[in-house]
Amino acid sequence: MPEEMTLPQLAKLWRDFIQDYYRKEILEIANSFPEKRSLTVSYKDVELFDPELGAFLLDKPNSAIFAAETAIRDSLPPDVKPEVRRGVHFRVVGLPPKPLALTEVRELRAKHIGKLVAVSGLVRKATQVKPKLVDGVFQCARCLAVIREPQFDSVFKEPLECYRDQGGCGKSAASTRFILLTNDLSLFRKPVQPADAAPPSEGGEPQVPPDAASRDLRSVFIDTQKIEIQESPEDLRGGDQPERLTAYAEDDLCKKISPGDKVVLNGVLRSQQRSTGQVKSTFFDWYLEINSIQLEEHEFEDVEISPEEEERILRLARNKDIYRLIIGSIAPTIYGMEVEKEALALQMFGGVMKVMPDGTRIRGDAHILLVGDPGTAKSQLLRYITRLVPRGIYASGKASTAAGLTAAAVHDEFGEGRWTLEAGALVLADKGLAAVDELDKMSEQDSSSMHEAMEQQMISVAKAGITATLQSRCSILAAANPKEGRFDEHSYLVDQINLSPTLLSRFDVIFPLTDKPDPKKDLALAGHIVNTHLAGEIAMYRKNVQDRKFTKEDEKRAMRKVEPEIVPELLRKYIAYARSRVFPVMTKDVMEILQEYYVNIRSQARSSEGEGGAIPMTPRQIEALIRLSEASARLRLANEVTAEDADRAKRIVEYFLRKVASEGGRFDIDAIMTGTTHVQRERIHTIIDIIEELDEGRGVTEEEVLRRTRSEGIPEDKVKRDLQRLYSDGRVFMPSAERYKVARERR
Ligand code: ADP
Ligand code: MG
Repeated sequence: MPEEMTLPQLAKLWRDFIQDYYRKEILEIANSFPEKRSLTVSYKDVELFDPELGAFLLDKPNSAIFAAETAIRDSLPPDVKPEVRRGVHFRVVGLPPKPLALTEVRELRAKHIGKLVAVSGLVRKATQVKPKLVDGVFQCARCLAVIREPQFDSVFKEPLECYRDQGGCGKSAASTRFILLTNDLSLFRKPVQPADAAPPSEGGEPQVPPDAASRDLRSVFIDTQKIEIQESPEDLRGGDQPERLTAYAEDDLCKKISPGDKVVLNGVLRSQQRSTGQVKSTFFDWYLEINSIQLEEHEFEDVEISPEEEERILRLARNKDIYRLIIGSIAPTIYGMEVEKEALALQMFGGVMKVMPDGTRIRGDAHILLVGDPGTAKSQLLRYITRLVPRGIYASGKASTAAGLTAAAVHDEFGEGRWTLEAGALVLADKGLAAVDELDKMSEQDSSSMHEAMEQQMISVAKAGITATLQSRCSILAAANPKEGRFDEHSYLVDQINLSPTLLSRFDVIFPLTDKPDPKKDLALAGHIVNTHLAGEIAMYRKNVQDRKFTKEDEKRAMRKVEPEIVPELLRKYIAYARSRVFPVMTKDVMEILQEYYVNIRSQARSSEGEGGAIPMTPRQIEALIRLSEASARLRLANEVTAEDADRAKRIVEYFLRKVASEGGRFDIDAIMTGTTHVQRERIHTIIDIIEELDEGRGVTEEEVLRRTRSEGIPEDKVKRDLQRLYSDGRVFMPSAERYKVARERR
């Protein structure tokens, strides 16, 4: 039926629809234009009113929207100003699901061109807002006639001649000039018309006609913004690269969204011919002309949990073995790493994000860093976790885009002359988890924004007129490789990786992963890897070879050891459920436990070493303990953080401090915070004293220093490293080869 409808009939249909469903909104537009200048209707209402009109809207959006805007104009009260009628838009939200309108970027096909579609994704880039000419009004320099030339695409079009049918002189573009009349009309020259010869203006100023009449003398501009979205991780199947789509927003849709937002863009897919120089191609690109934008505010909106699944989740949470089950569901093909996986399990659930009355936000996300030898399954683990958690993004420090890990303002082709704000991985993973591999290889720009990104969980960009603050409320799971290839348990973390202490101190937990030969562990690890491969081989054999060498039972038995305890789809929902509905609160016990623990550990160090002694922990560690305790409670969907949760958190924090922040059996957080522990500071003083004492003018050799330190029982490798460090810090120098001298500070 609507196929054969004329435009007036269609507009009439829309008018009836507006009359039935949106009368109030029309009045609002009339009253609060230009703040409100779009009538946003729900597709459901259209469908309810007339299913065929709904179908027509999806299929022929050009005529449907044109008619709808005519209908809006006709429905406005008669006394509204002309610019209200001119400036209204028709927007539709809530388009139907697949396969009718909703689609993913990767599913767009030629058949979608010209149709109304809804595409979901994360906003990756957004340009500055700039005006675009949509209706050019020109004045002929010869005859002063005013000529219109509507603009249809991105190429500026001047009139070909001074059109006679618009009252012009007919001169071709070559024999006259056309002056574009913009908003201020400063270039307008009033033609002298003998008939209604108005008195010439005093002073010879260009006479600007009164507003109502001058409307048609101004070119029409519209605000535009170019946007790029990319598929969100939930929509990707196992490790696919996300695909991207360019979209244009106009007028009141500009500045509605920023990079990192999760959106559904409703609009008409348009094609655009490619060309190289003058040569036009038969290949086309496409872009979305946005009709309306839906912002997804809530974290887990798209994780749908059915009542049966909720029942399963609640049942799982009551299981006494829930921790083991969840830990056993993290990368089961990776052998060992129990504590590491336990920490990762807590990270997936996260602590509670708090907003204080003064607006301060305290992060709930825990950040974890894995530092270690090559081939210790770091990358493997990172990839696994990103597939497991809702909104997980995998990125490498060696990012290939301008935005890198954080965000950047860039001036490139995309912006077509405007600056573009581009989101990096941490922004795209907002409200999720960012796995950053090879963190030590990140750019300098990233490493400076990373501090803010990790603690305040936002990233500020201020460059070339773009000032923006993007949210990066995600937990970070990072991996880094030691500078010298292998991790040396005897030297300090900061000396071994290319990351500043200030950045390191922002991680709640840091795990060193070493790959040292150990017959028992090696046997078990090799056994595990061999088994994994065997299970895979049997599965592939059964799938591809048509004999009965292996039974289904054989396959099942082999797979048992490498199967996750909880299937990933359910675990993802479990996590989403916990993060969106469970907000545990500490019991009094827990508060006391954590408080005392902190005080005790610090005062023990003080009483044994006195003032200036080692600092075993800082307030950051209490925060880490609280976050991990909360996560531990959340994991079993508990509303209370109990002593058991605090113990789990303590065990994890102590495990890591012992590995990377202890010296001589004591915790010393300065191993991470400043890179120099208390013991090392003392040792460095001793070494300096020794050099000064032995130096008779020509400097002292390493061997001479070592002879003395040996007698004082200081480990040789440490002294050697300290000497190197003193040398690179400039505190000692070498006046001649292999001889050290203490540098004197000038006074
Ligand atoms: P990294 O990123 O730490 O250099 P990868 O993640 O690339 O290491 O791992 C190298 C390979 O070694 C992977 O195929 C991984 O599965 C395997 N591997 C390493 N450690 C283990 C382990 N503990 N259990 C099972 N496989 C492992
Ligand atoms: Mg790796």
